[in-house]
Amino acid sequence: MLSSAAKYILNSKENFVSAEDALRPELAGMQIYDEPIFAVASADDPLFLQLREPKVVGAGAFLPSDWLDGAKSVISFFLPFTDAVKKSNRIDPVKASDEWLHARIEGQTAVDTLGAHICSLLKSEGFDAVYPSRDPRFTTIAPLTSNWSERHIAYICGLGTFGLSKGLITEKGMAGRFGSVVTTAELPVTPRPYSSPFEYCTMCKACQRKCPPQAIDASKGVADGKDHSICAPFVNSTKLPPHGINNRVRYGCGKCQVGVPCESRIPKK
Ligand code: SF4
Ligand code: SF4
Repeated sequence: MLSSAAKYILNSKENFVSAEDALRPELAGMQIYDEPIFAVASADDPLFLQLREPKVVGAGAFLPSDWLDGAKSVISFFLPFTDAVKKSNRIDPVKASDEWLHARIEGQTAVDTLGAHICSLLKSEGFDAVYPSRDPRFTTIAPLTSNWSERHIAYICGLGTFGLSKGLITEKGMAGRFGSVVTTAELPVTPRPYSSPFEYCTMCKACQRKCPPQAIDASKGVADGKDHSICAPFVNSTKLPPHGINNRVRYGCGKCQVGVPCESRIPKK
């Protein structure tokens, strides 16, 4: 089922920048993502309860059973950006590339398309399924914090561990986007190939050196080294005027995710 979902999203029109949206004519048709990876956790995994701790997500974090009565499994997926997207954002040390902005904004439509497609595949097999990120109950519970954190869900499911820059390092790196589905189907659980939340980060500080507004400071430790109150205003300051058929406002940075050892793989210690 998941391998057919991977093929579906690779070839779907949402995985390509349309001519009507392209920030430059030559970006029309650019592929956003390479093949996704998937991992599955049991809905009863005790790590979900830990999301409610203040230092993790907080008391308002939803559990799988809050989304869906009879939830049995959570499927997390990571869609890695293509080399074209990653390479383009390595060039300018401050300004996000047009390719990166498309991957961030149009790329989210592709993530939502994959989430909805997995739900419809599960429903066609007689199970129930919810894609929390587009559910009306999905909400913000604190600044920059939602009641369903895709990176934390991916960690629980076995997709990867956090880095100093707060991205999640997977076997296909950090540069890409995450999504997840909660379902009543009892699926085989993916073994977590790590035992602690920052296991894959080498503390090489490459992300710190790349961050334009200096929002990353390794001396504060891997868990507290990124200051969202510096990162978020910087990212917001990059907003471009609305563009394209959908009048989308594009903004982004991602310099901490490209040209670093964890960009496309688990870095070597
Ligand atoms: S660039 Fe280095 S320090 Fe930063 S998250 Fe990746 S491995 Fe960790
Ligand atoms: S997204 Fe940009 S501003 Fe934010 S931590 Fe990464 S490099 Fe720094």
